[in-house]
Amino acid sequence: VRADFQSRQRRLACDLAAHRLDALIVSSAASIRYLSGFTGSHALLLATRDDSRLFTDPRYKLQASLECAARITVVKGPLIHSLAAWIRRLRLRRIGFDPAQLSYALFQQLDRELPEAARLVPAGGLVENRRMVKSAEEISRIRRSAETASRAFQETLPLIRPGMRELEVAAELDYRARRLGAERPAFETIVAAGPRSAHPHARPTANCLGSNQLLLIDMGAMQDGYASDMTRMLHLGRPSRRVRDLYQAVLEAHQAALEAVRPGATAESVDRAARRSLRKAGLARAFVHSTGHGLGLEVHEQPRLGKGDVTRLEAGMALTIEPGVYFEELGGIRVEDTVIVTPAGCEILTPTPRELLVL
Ligand code: ZN
Ligand code: ZN
Repeated sequence: VRADFQSRQRRLACDLAAHRLDALIVSSAASIRYLSGFTGSHALLLATRDDSRLFTDPRYKLQASLECAARITVVKGPLIHSLAAWIRRLRLRRIGFDPAQLSYALFQQLDRELPEAARLVPAGGLVENRRMVKSAEEISRIRRSAETASRAFQETLPLIRPGMRELEVAAELDYRARRLGAERPAFETIVAAGPRSAHPHARPTANCLGSNQLLLIDMGAMQDGYASDMTRMLHLGRPSRRVRDLYQAVLEAHQAALEAVRPGATAESVDRAARRSLRKAGLARAFVHSTGHGLGLEVHEQPRLGKGDVTRLEAGMALTIEPGVYFEELGGIRVEDTVIVTPAGCEILTPTPRELLVL
């Protein structure tokens, strides 16, 4: 596994050379973990073309020495001072940073402490782009994470009945996922009943489940550092004709998107396939978000399966496929799977069946 980190650092060194950078300041925890293995929450990483150095505080001294495949500097006080001192010592000139990750306060402080000859160059997304294509080890972690979430879902199903609170259902799902090996939920589990399911990112409430309503469950596990993401729909009581038709339309859009996933296709073309399918059913305006997103160390990563993202898909990318339709009074219907792009198309990692579950 240590070899993994070294090869990631080497690939980043190639990117630095291609962008004529002497170094890159990495400030996102997920990217620091990707490059070095360090899982603590307070660190900065300075990647040069020759090596990488992690800056962290004394609380993480032992943890860094156990986990980190980079040189380590333990800093008392602000990490940025020590990082600036290393930049001066190594006489680095062009130093990349990610404008979406480094705070303005840290940027200003760094800018003040660097010598005249050094320049801070915006270089966003270098590590994030590398993170898109997963190694075999990463794929097996995402697969395990998806299996854990699916099992927790299956184990929770028999408990769900009218009168139960959304929060109780969410607690049962999270509890079971943890017992099955998850470190935590990949994001705050969504359990949304009836009209509340019309909010694509609803938070569970103390409201009780009723009868004759939709129930949307969107959940994922974070296991061995890797996320999964899945949405399934239940119906409490017999679904109406309209609900069944809408559900069928979403399933067809989901299938159309799956069929569009293959190496060489653009991210936005997958979105277009789902949208075209829903448009044919007269539901274009009810589909209010993009079709999916990359995932891995974080639950939302590149690429974004939406209009304007022309990233070419490659074998080994991990994506979600999650078309949905939303109506203020009826609620929302979404079906979401975690998939891996394969040389021939894609493989679905979420084993839970996709039909509407009637309770
Ligand atoms: Zn989701
Ligand atoms: Zn998602």
